[in-house]
Amino acid sequence: MNCPWCGADFEMMIDPGEGSHESVHDCYWCCAPIVVNVVLSEIDGTPEVRLSREDGSDE
Ligand SMILES: [Zn+2]
Repeated sequence: MNCPWCGADFEMMIDPGEGSHESVHDCYWCCAPIVVNVVLSEIDGTPEVRLSREDGSDE
């Protein structure tokens, strides 16, 4: 995965047991808040991870 802010590559542990959820992690390298969105596939339960920037706006 790559940080949406600085592009740094990093590893993140995803626990499929948590189901679909969203959480915010600070980038290890640039400390910017990264929104981690985990969506489990309804077909085989494979977790799909999307990273986006936490910018404080809903627009
Ligand atoms: Zn970063």
